[in-house]
Amino acid sequence: MKLSPSQRKLFKTLSELNGVSGQENEIARYLRASYQKIGYPIITDNLGSIFAVKKSNLKKAPKVMVVGHMDEVGFIVISLESNGMLKGHPIGGLNPQTLNAQRVCLKTKNGNYLHGAIGAVPPHLLTEAEREKPTEIKNMLFDFGFKTKKEAEDAGVFIGAMMVVEGEFREINNQERLLGKAFDDRYGIVLGLEILKEFKNVDLPIDLYVGGSVQEEVGCRGAMTSSNLIGPDLAIVLDCSPSRDSSGNAKELGQLGGGVLIRFVDGTMIAFPELLAFQKECAEKAHVKSQYFDSPGGTDAGQIHKNLDGVLTLTHCICARSIHTNSIVMDVEDYIAAKKSLIYMLKHLDESKIVALKAARR
Ligand SMILES: [Zn+2]
Repeated sequence: MKLSPSQRKLFKTLSELNGVSGQENEIARYLRASYQKIGYPIITDNLGSIFAVKKSNLKKAPKVMVVGHMDEVGFIVISLESNGMLKGHPIGGLNPQTLNAQRVCLKTKNGNYLHGAIGAVPPHLLTEAEREKPTEIKNMLFDFGFKTKKEAEDAGVFIGAMMVVEGEFREINNQERLLGKAFDDRYGIVLGLEILKEFKNVDLPIDLYVGGSVQEEVGCRGAMTSSNLIGPDLAIVLDCSPSRDSSGNAKELGQLGGGVLIRFVDGTMIAFPELLAFQKECAEKAHVKSQYFDSPGGTDAGQIHKNLDGVLTLTHCICARSIHTNSIVMDVEDYIAAKKSLIYMLKHLDESKIVALKAARR
């Protein structure tokens, strides 16, 4: 299974845009322009989350929120050294083993990009003990070729500037799999856009809010503010979770190509059994694969479900290898499975279904 040309364009463009938590503007602007082009009104919260609104023709329809997070992991500059090197503060969860010698880009004061690399000490200069241990992030030196601190300042480097490990989008293995950065969670951003296009001329018995949250990677902060803004009756969170299939053990939960994740528990939410059953049934009816999944981590759902007076919340994730790096591998069939089953789900949600789902919790 391969991406269509329009899907390929979305995945390439959105995964190559940069936006560490708190600096999601590039993605938000892209979404704003896309929502306007399709013809949807837009709402935003005060942290930067953005949603397209598709109102039902019914006067009083239940609200359904579909959200992916726009931010990605990376760094901000925390110091400019006298020799022109920079130091970075990590934003979100990063594994130091994935970082030395990586190419990085830095967004300057003027919005231009500079290109550089995270320094690595050559093996000749390492002691036996140093070779065993990855460099701590606080000791990493970001090298953009500057000779002095002044050169860095003159080029537009400032404290707080965003730095992201570069990751060009590629299709691999006969275009059946995707390699790149930030599929966590541009997967959810691409899928949200495709859903909005799909339902452009379809009247639904629900008010649909589809968009992107900010600051998920640092504690689901935009999920809190945007769900307060919307006040959903039901929320569906689109995110990209770590696969566990690389070892070859087929019994591990989270197999690439295994379909959409029926995520029954994670570190921040115990899933609603009735919603999981509905999700599984919709995947079957849409003739796509699904697989059970658990995770020690969390998603925006962890925040949304306990917001307001409690929100029925479901995660609708796929898994990918090497997430939180610039070399993520995801499977196109998983994406299509998530898309088809989400469309089926949204077509089969109405007031009575949501009332019944809520009643099951009482
Ligand atoms: Zn994520």
